Amino acid sequence: MIIGIDLGTTNSLVAIWRDGRAHIVPNALGHNLTPSVVGLDDDGAVLVGLAARERLITHPHLTTSVFKRYMGSDRETALGRQRFRPEELSALVLKSLKEDAERFLGEPVEEAVITVPAYFSDAQRKATKIAGQLAGLKVERLVNEPTAAALAYGLHQGEPESRFLVFDLGGGTFDISILELFEGVMEVRASAGDNFLGGEDFSEALIDGFVDAVGKRHGLADKQATPAVYQALRKQAEQAKRALTGGESVTMEVLHGGETLSWAISDAEFQKLCEPLLKRLREPIEKALRDARLKAIDLDQIVLAGGATRMPMVRKLVAKLFGRLPAMNINPDEVVAMGAAVMAGLKSRDVTLDEVVMTDVCPYTLGVEVSEQIGPGRFQPGFYLPIIERNSVVPISREQTVNTIVDNQAALHVSVFQGESRLVKDNIFLGEITIPVPAKPAGQVSVSIRFTYDVNGLLEAEMTVSETGEKHRLIIEENPGVLTPEQIEEKLAALAKLKTHPRELLPNAQLLARADRLFQQTLGDERQWVSQATAQFQALLEQQDEEAIAKGREELKKLLDEIEGEGWL
Ligand code: AMP
Repeated sequence: MIIGIDLGTTNSLVAIWRDGRAHIVPNALGHNLTPSVVGLDDDGAVLVGLAARERLITHPHLTTSVFKRYMGSDRETALGRQRFRPEELSALVLKSLKEDAERFLGEPVEEAVITVPAYFSDAQRKATKIAGQLAGLKVERLVNEPTAAALAYGLHQGEPESRFLVFDLGGGTFDISILELFEGVMEVRASAGDNFLGGEDFSEALIDGFVDAVGKRHGLADKQATPAVYQALRKQAEQAKRALTGGESVTMEVLHGGETLSWAISDAEFQKLCEPLLKRLREPIEKALRDARLKAIDLDQIVLAGGATRMPMVRKLVAKLFGRLPAMNINPDEVVAMGAAVMAGLKSRDVTLDEVVMTDVCPYTLGVEVSEQIGPGRFQPGFYLPIIERNSVVPISREQTVNTIVDNQAALHVSVFQGESRLVKDNIFLGEITIPVPAKPAGQVSVSIRFTYDVNGLLEAEMTVSETGEKHRLIIEENPGVLTPEQIEEKLAALAKLKTHPRELLPNAQLLARADRLFQQTLGDERQWVSQATAQFQALLEQQDEEAIAKGREELKKLLDEIEGEGWL
């Protein structure tokens, strides 16, 4: 069985294709969404999901979130005394989802389709594949998140000739994709987006609003200096954002220096705070339409994906921009995972799915550095020669020829970049190679550079010296964002040594973590109730009577719900 995974910035999900449709697989707590949060418990065992998210506030130094933003970089996060790369943290989330799927299916799972933002770079895609490998999963395919959303809506089975736009605003990324269905082939015509824009920025706007309105007066200007208060504020902002999705106004409260700071905000004020963010949503839409040479009116459907598209102000903006209501009958949090399951079904050639060919695009231009002639015999380096243009349908292979520029030039230096700027210094460096060339007068030796970009977004460059027919392959060595096979082996061994908090004990761990957090966030009587109830529940746990524990869990949960309202998962 191949499973479909939406590895999100804030939440992740796993889904399977069974009996002709996609099903979301619930986790150990019975929830569809597993927060992409990883931490170590007090015994050093790994906690993933809601239990870890509760501990973001109480144990900020042992817990981490939003690491998807750092995929493809070598930034490490310390949890206690151990350090983790982003692909290791992602691997721990994937491993937890894999176990949930195994439990649900009653069989081992070894293969997965994982979704990535359409905008992910080569290094980020490689890191995602490696994360899968570290979790014990063979990554059958990476699928762009918007493509998955279109699959979930069955758009591949709709009108024989149609065009859709997928508007995906998740926790941390924004993706716009324009897809075209033509003669049974689904093609991504264009994609654009913003890797640093998502629902979390709307929460951040509320936090900033809070700090400006009341926090500063109470010494809360520096978020870094007060991580626990900041995390509490984040949770308040998240709840406020959700409350404003249905309601008119909300009050955010946080405990600081023995005082409860509170701030009331209306829906209209929230919208005003978010104006700069709403503005940033427009640009990628315009870019994608321009690249696809389409107008809003040419689109047959607009599809919403990502939890943040629940916000009325986002829906209103979409309706205004496109002059119609978007498709939203599938839960926007789940639509990408559902599509990953459809893709997994297609991969395993399930008979209940019509055969459909999928194509994707390479979302950015790939090219090399060249020198340009600026006068007789005078060259200036630093210019960008595009080889594969952005939004080319993949897999794709393209070639460009370059010539030597000085007499008896002994070698040619090829530097590969990704980006859209005319000067390479403004693009992202991917790798380089120096190849020997026969000594001849300037311009008489040519080298063809062939770029091959595959469906998983992986790039290979092959250089052929035309004089000799000699071929060289580019191996990107100095890419700090990508682990080498030896490093992967090392990381696998290190991860195997980590203890994982047992799955069946997670409901207890989550509840205790929540109680701990509430103890920190409340005062007076409430605090006393939480403390007593926690102690009673811990005493129950020691007696190891399953029935009594289940009952105690319900009671403690009821008390916590009474104090803060139900959680949002
Ligand atoms: P995703 O990455 O698709 O799980 O999206 C997560 C983002 O959606 C987070 O920033 C959430 O705060 C946001 N979100 C989820 N549900 C709601 C809601 N009801 N109202 C506002 N934002 C929401």
